[in-house]
This record gives sequence, structure tokens and C-alpha cells, in this order.
Amino acid sequence: MTTSPYDYDLIVIGAGSGGVRAARMAATKGGRVAVIESRYLGGTCVNVGCVPKKLFVYASEFSQAFKDSAGYGYTVDKKPEFDWPTLRDNKTNEIKRLNGVYDGLLNRAGVDIIHGHGRFIDDHTVAVGDREIRAANILIATGSWPVMPEIDGAEHIISSNEVFYLDTFPQDVIVIGGGYIAVEFAGIFNGLGAKTHLVHRGEPVLRGFDDDIREFVSSELEQAGIQLLYNREISRVEILGTGRYRATLSDGSVRETDLIVSAIGRRPLLDGLDIDKAGVEAASAGHLEVNEHYQTNVRHIFALGDVIGRVQLTPVALAEGMYVADYLFGDVPGAVDYDRIPTAVFCQPNIGTVGLTEAEAAKRYERVEVYEANFKAMKNTLSGNPERTLMKLLVDCDSRAVIGAHMVGESAAEIIQGLAVAMTAGATKADFDRTIGIHPTAAEEFVTMRSPARIIGRDREDD
Ligand code: FAD
Ligand code: NDP
Repeated sequence: MTTSPYDYDLIVIGAGSGGVRAARMAATKGGRVAVIESRYLGGTCVNVGCVPKKLFVYASEFSQAFKDSAGYGYTVDKKPEFDWPTLRDNKTNEIKRLNGVYDGLLNRAGVDIIHGHGRFIDDHTVAVGDREIRAANILIATGSWPVMPEIDGAEHIISSNEVFYLDTFPQDVIVIGGGYIAVEFAGIFNGLGAKTHLVHRGEPVLRGFDDDIREFVSSELEQAGIQLLYNREISRVEILGTGRYRATLSDGSVRETDLIVSAIGRRPLLDGLDIDKAGVEAASAGHLEVNEHYQTNVRHIFALGDVIGRVQLTPVALAEGMYVADYLFGDVPGAVDYDRIPTAVFCQPNIGTVGLTEAEAAKRYERVEVYEANFKAMKNTLSGNPERTLMKLLVDCDSRAVIGAHMVGESAAEIIQGLAVAMTAGATKADFDRTIGIHPTAAEEFVTMRSPARIIGRDREDD
């Protein structure tokens, strides 16, 4: 019998989305696996990300639903009241339940869970406190952490992490940023009744999304009551005797508020990991560079998820985790398709998107048909809710393939997930056209768009 010089075949540092998936799958395939976690099983997504955020999004949608119900004949006797501690604590209990579920999943798969902060001793050894463990392979799945503004009074500003545990709910709030988190949290605060201001250094929000979607969302956010303060930054924050904060903006204006939340991006989390002791090099931007097999410059040390600075989304970390487990323990891994990652922003109304934006399509393809539908959803007729829906479909004129689908509207995320399957399978516009709609839905618009709103051509300057 051969004896291994290692305690494990694989040590995973970080039990978040990617780490848990890789550890479980590796153990299921017969690997001897340990996972080290310093904070919370399930990582960012389960504890301070996707899951609690979505629960808050659901909560924030009730205020509009109460208003909408009047047109459908309901009388709500008393103004509905929102109790923050109830939401916060119910959410926390649900997260605790999920932590237990993750513990069970890992245990049942035969993964050893080691609680504590992991740090490299050398390229095969990781220490947790006084304990040193050795493995043939090590996976760094340590995720990311909020970047905070570097301004006077930054200590008075919180990140999304703290929003989940606020003692009191603010009457008014300033959210800094124009990305996923800023837009989603502005919607949450606004829906739950706080007067909400979004301060963004650019205009409009959500750079990287389709421009029509960005403009449309901007006007929907404003219409929903969020004050958008574009082309401004916060340059200084002071705390007042009342416990409120005074924020000075770059345009010289001053605003008082109960709470300031920053959402200006997340940096790869490598704090105290001592990667240099293992010879692992980080890129100058701070993330870990990996090859197509998620190997760092030290080939038996892998990295995936937020820490590699590619796409900070849970399903992407999961796919990367599957790849690494397959690569190390036998199966031929399927490469992650970074070209067609569907994504959603859970603002009100929410955004769902997959494939190219119109600007990207114009650069990559000779001629592209742009189909559009902009309408008031049936549900909003009786309610009088002014919220509108926007849908866009981009079609390559040569191959007739659908190369982009975008939507802002109720259930956009749910609808786009289905379209992503069709697009991954290579669906053409003809496939969409011969698909029978489900009536009456908003989704059926995607299979009934017959005439393009315009045809765009390749951006010659980029040729
Ligand atoms: P994480 O899930 O962050 O896991 C890393 C783990 O490593 C953590 O548990 C951390 O404690 C641990 N760790 C770090 N260093 C050490 C160490 N030295 N020793 C031991 N353990 C360590 N994505 C979506 O797809 N949909 C969403 O709706 C969505 N909403 C989000 C909302 C918010 C507010 C945030 C912040 C993120 C959201 N994301 C969403 C992004 C998603 O959460 C991340 O992309 C995903 O969690 C990344 O997974 P990961 O495995 O790379 O890292
Ligand atoms: P994002 O990268 O999405 O957005 C960062 C925003 O902050 C941008 O608007 C950016 O502006 C702005 N910004 C960057 N630096 C500064 C600065 N120094 N001062 C002022 N503004 C600045 O990051 P988030 O923090 O919103 O979220 C992190 C990631 O988490 C997301 O990218 C996403 O991958 C993931 N996530 C996913 C969600 C989902 O799937 N629904 C939900 C939440 C998070 P500019 O555009 O000008 O660069």
C-alpha cells in the first residue's frame, strides 16, 4: 500500500459558492478533501449576498403591491407598517438554517470542515491557528471584500455587509455607486420606505449593460422615487450631534442623512493568506491570474470565483468549481462559457440580460437587427402603476442567431433564464418566431417581435 505524504488530496480555502461546490464534487469523486472557512459556511452569497439580498428585495416589493391592490378592489384599512427587526431577524434565522444545510452537504460528501483562518506555510502546507495541514493540491476560493471610499470620514460609511444587520432602519439613506449592489440596495431602501438618494460618479447607472436598458432603468428608478445624483462623488462625511451624517458632495452641495452605504466594487480577498510563502503571484490589479484549468503560476495551487477577478457571480463560481473538481479527479471538464453568462439586477422592475449589448453587437457583427418592445404590462393597467417593461432582442443578420436578449420588467430574471438556454443551444430568430407564445404574459413578446426597430452595422472605426 502506498502512503501519501499529504493529509489530503485537496485543501479548499474558503467555503463560499465556488469552494463548497469544488470540495463537494471532489469528495464525491473519491478525493480526500478538507475545506477551511474563517467566517461563515456558504460564503458571501448565502450570508451577505444573493440570498439575504433577494429576501430583502421580496420585502421591498410589498409596498408597491399594497398600492397596486386598490385598483383590483382591495381596501387596506390601515396604512401597512413595516417592522425592520422582523425582516432582519427572520432573514438571519433563514441564513442560520442555510449554514446548517451547507454543513450537512459537506459532511455527507465526506469533506472535513476546518473552522478558522487559513494561511500558507509553503506551497503544500496551510496553517489554521497552530495546526498545519498538507495537501497535494490547494484551491484558493477566498472570494472578495467591499472596496471602501478613501475620503475624510470614511469610517462613518458602511458597506452592504452591514446593511443586513442594521439596528434601526433609516428614514433616509445615501447609496454610493452605480453598479449591481448600489442599484439593488437603492431599490430595497426605497421600497422599504427610506427616502433614497443614489450618488454615482457617472451617468447613467450599470456601465456594461445595454445602453437602452441603462437609460430605461434610470427613468424607472426615478419614477419609483429614488433621487439620482449623477456625475457626483462624496468627498467628505461628518457625524452630527444628532447621530445623523453630513455628506459633502463634489459639486459642493451638502446633505444630511441617517445612513451612507458604499457599493463601489469588491476587491479580491487575499488578506492574511500569505500567498507569497507558496510562491503564488497576484496580478497588479490584486486578483489571482489563472490559466484555462484555473491553475495559478504554481500549478498545483488553483483559484476560482471572485478572487480571480473575472466575473463576480455565484453561478460562475459554481461552474468554475465543477471544472476544477473534474480536472483534478478524473472527468473531462467542460470549459466555462464566459460569452453567454445570463445575469440579473434585482431592482424594481428587475433586469435580466444575456449575450451581447447593442454596442458590442455593432462592433462584432456586420449587420444586426434590433427588435424592441416597450409597453405597460397588463397587471399595471388596473393598478395604475406607471412602471413599464422594455425588451430587446439582437439578431445577427448573417446567421440569424439571437445574440442578445435584454429585459427590464417584472420577472425579467426568470424569463431571461429560459432564453439563455435557447441561446446556448444556438437558437435563431426563426426558432423564436415558430415558438408558440404563452398568453397572456409579458414573456410572449419575445416570440412575437416581427419587425426590427432598426438594423445596425459594424462600427468601421474598430475594424
Ligand atoms: P465567497 O462566496 O465570497 O466565499 C469565499 C469564502 O472564503 C468566504 O466564506 C470567506 O469567509 C472565506 N475566506 C476568505 N479568506 C479566507 C481564509 N484566509 N481562510 C479561510 N476562509 C477564508 N451573485 C449572483 O450570482 N447573484 C446575486 O444575486 C448576487 N448578489 C450579491 C449581492 C451582494 C450584496 C454581494 C456582495 C454579492 C452578490 N453576488 C451575487 C456575488 C456572489 O455573492 C459572489 O460572486 C460569490 O459569492 C463568489 O463566490 P466565491 O466562492 O468566489 O467567494
Ligand atoms: P460593480 O463593479 O458592479 O459597480 C461598482 C460601481 O461603483 C460602478 O458604478 C463604478 O462606477 C462605481 N465606482 C467604482 N469605483 C468608484 C470610486 N472610487 N468612487 C465612486 N464610484 C466608484 O460593483 P458592486 O460593488 O455593485 O458589486 C460587486 C459585484 O458583485 C458585481 O459586479 C457583481 O458581479 C456582483 N453582484 C451581483 C449581483 C447580481 O447578480 N444580481 C448583485 C450584487 C453584486 P463606474 O461604472 O464609473 O466604474
